[in-house]
Amino acid sequence: MDCLRLSAGKSRELRIFHINAMDAHGPLNDIDRLRQENSALRARLADLETIVMRMPVPIAISEDPESNRIEVNPAFAALLGIDPDQNASLTEESAAELPFHVYRNGKPVAGSELPQQRAYRTGREVHDELEIVRDDGVRYFIYGSAKPLFDEEGRVRRTFSAFVDVTQRKRAEKALEESMQALRNANEELQQFAYAASHDLQEPLRSIGSYAQLLQRRYAGDAEASEYAGFMVDGVARMNTLIHDLLIYSRVGSGTLRRRPADLGNALQWALLNVERSIKEHKATVTYDALPELIVDEGQMSQLFQNLIGNSLKYRGELPPLIHVSADESEDEWILTVRDNGIGIEPRFHQHIFGVFKRLHGREVPGTGMGLAICRKIVESHGGRIWVESDGKNGSAFRFALPK
Ligand code: ADP
Repeated sequence: MDCLRLSAGKSRELRIFHINAMDAHGPLNDIDRLRQENSALRARLADLETIVMRMPVPIAISEDPESNRIEVNPAFAALLGIDPDQNASLTEESAAELPFHVYRNGKPVAGSELPQQRAYRTGREVHDELEIVRDDGVRYFIYGSAKPLFDEEGRVRRTFSAFVDVTQRKRAEKALEESMQALRNANEELQQFAYAASHDLQEPLRSIGSYAQLLQRRYAGDAEASEYAGFMVDGVARMNTLIHDLLIYSRVGSGTLRRRPADLGNALQWALLNVERSIKEHKATVTYDALPELIVDEGQMSQLFQNLIGNSLKYRGELPPLIHVSADESEDEWILTVRDNGIGIEPRFHQHIFGVFKRLHGREVPGTGMGLAICRKIVESHGGRIWVESDGKNGSAFRFALPK
């Protein structure tokens, strides 16, 4: 009895409890049962409506199949800048009164092309990302879907849509894209500057070099003067190599890539041809496995092998150099390895040596510190990565991964 008394209260939960209680207290006639089921159903509908209305998610439901009249919940109304009772459908008659316009990928969207109208026409769920531009200047990006709801004969009865406000995400994406573009521009400018600067430096350097040689010859009898002139000649030669490497560095990379299917074996052969003299001179042995064909800039790949093999010869140990080039395949990339039996590199320098003008040796070994920086630029512009493995004693393995 307690239960029955409570059921007279306003709470819906209690009314639902009421039905169960009546069931438990004996048979009901059909009309009573129908009445109670009906009222429970209405209560449930009211609950669902409350949920939809209170959800902080933009929701819209059409009152007719064609979506000529669309009702929105308060969250959607606030986003559109309209009254919750207003018809939100962008039909020819109502569009003029609505204080917003809809865009997709920056282009205006006609009322007939909105997700709910498309869901009605196609009979399918339609996913869409839209930009809402209000007359007061506020903009929102929403992402979501519209779904047709069918009657018993399978005809679209009305359509329903729910969205999420993705404005923050879109703004973050836009900001990221803008800074990426700024970075690309700055990078390109820097590249052009490095190229122009190094190119223009060659001309005056050539004349300094020629006059230094002239002085050297003229004062061949004066030990001190010819020693100074000799320093100048050496300096000019060093500067020439630096400029040459800087020019290569500014030329390789994404801006200049000519990618096409290329056999890395060919690229290796070209590289070996260029270091042939040094291989013979140091009695080096170079062996290699079959190398894959990849979509790369063959010339730059050849430069890469040449720098790595050149280093293996330059940083050789006591024994004649043994160099092996191998290729390993993983699911989405090829890893190439140039392994040598040279002096090795201590782990603490493994990152450092790929930097511009970074070297671990003085004048006793010629070099500019640009070779590995060039390698890194080539590999990274192909979407790959390069690293070295060495314990600092037993040779080095320079490895680079290239996407398939
Ligand atoms: P460079 O050879 O002109 O000095 P790199 O950029 O080619 O410049 O190399 C940077 C440094 O990395 C070198 O100075 C050398 O100390 C070290 N290095 C490069 N390759 C090897 C190698 N195969 N074995 C040992 N050390 C190496």
